[in-house]
Amino acid sequence: MSVHTAVILAGGRGTRLASVAGDVPKALVPIGGKPVLEHQLELLASAGIRDVRIFAGHLAGKIRDFTGDGSRFGLRVAIEVEDRPLGSAGAVLKKLDSLPEHFLVLYGDTMLAVDLGRFSRAHLQRGADLTTFVHPNDHPHDSDLVETDAKGRVTALHPYPHPEGCHFGNLVNAALYAVRREALRPWAGQAVKRDFAKDVLPALLAAGSPLEAYRSTEYIKDMGTPARLAKVSNDWQAGRIHFRGEHHRDPAVFLDRDGTLNVENGFIRSPDQLEILPGAADALKKLRAAGFRLVVLTNQPVIARGEASEEDVEAVHRKLEWELGFQGAYLDAIYYCPHHPDRGFPGERPELKMPCECRKPGLGLLHQACREVGLDPARSWMVGDTTLDLELARRGGLHSVLVQTGAAGHDGKFPSAKSDHTVPDIAAAADLILEATEG
Ligand SMILES: [Zn+2]
Repeated sequence: MSVHTAVILAGGRGTRLASVAGDVPKALVPIGGKPVLEHQLELLASAGIRDVRIFAGHLAGKIRDFTGDGSRFGLRVAIEVEDRPLGSAGAVLKKLDSLPEHFLVLYGDTMLAVDLGRFSRAHLQRGADLTTFVHPNDHPHDSDLVETDAKGRVTALHPYPHPEGCHFGNLVNAALYAVRREALRPWAGQAVKRDFAKDVLPALLAAGSPLEAYRSTEYIKDMGTPARLAKVSNDWQAGRIHFRGEHHRDPAVFLDRDGTLNVENGFIRSPDQLEILPGAADALKKLRAAGFRLVVLTNQPVIARGEASEEDVEAVHRKLEWELGFQGAYLDAIYYCPHHPDRGFPGERPELKMPCECRKPGLGLLHQACREVGLDPARSWMVGDTTLDLELARRGGLHSVLVQTGAAGHDGKFPSAKSDHTVPDIAAAADLILEATEG
């Protein structure tokens, strides 16, 4: 089974963009000389979508003039004219019976370079009623956030504003959905104004429906205000809007966690033990601005030892992401190994006590990250405080930087492992990497 239909919601009045777009519908605002809708239709066709339904209100005729029947994009495009705006979900609900069993929902004023085939497959494989695309941003504290369990199932929605002292992680709803039609059945046919994020998601969650979050840092940005449109245009000019795949992989800085990003504090079992090192957030911001993706690789044998659960480790990571986000920095992903090779301790979890490929310096996590995030190891770096990190870098073909925080390389696990560079801390590591790659 696969998803062959996409709905594009292009019915907004576009008043916020009127100053720059005039009487051009938002979906036809050009990015790089081509309407955002054309970018979307090309992306949909490349993902195996065959039918596109555009829900348009304001200036629907102009959209129809542009798309025609869709054949020039290799698609069948139909325009649905809304007589009155029904919100993002309202238009879909009114026409629910005419939609197939599963479909994608995109917003017409969103520029995206997402692997929609992969997104659709994840939705189907997980048996979700609705899958929402989520990503970290650099201001989670004033964003509407999604909370998930360790497997990516949505467990809570946290609309802004957030209570003081919370750390919800950094997953923001990006307004791209894959939907199982029957999940929306309770509201079918109602010509009532409803919004996916504000109404449908909370209702599905309250009803116990399987609601999945698909985390990715692929490009997706709404351009519904002049400032955001300018940002998207800049991103296009700078070459930042591209499909990630076999032919376009990004360089990354892989980061160890304890002793590199946060204060080495024994084995961390709960969020209150996590303290981010000074300068870490700024270092990440600089590296990201220079085009590096940022991925944490960490061994967490506390799980195999039974000292912390996966949920505990996830809670620590939510705090890490929240605190970094507070300082305007974010990670593309965090990968951790829950295993430990030696059996025979009280309280351990025998099913996790085994040799594995993912425990550093094993390359399992590195390879998974390269595959899932779309990374090029040959142009990537490893920053860490132990010889495990250095040995991982050697085996994986990464440039290595040893930081003198945490274990400062004195862990003794791989005495022969050498670092390419040694610096005081992560701030200095970022400067070194930028210097080494800029010239
Ligand atoms: Zn492992």
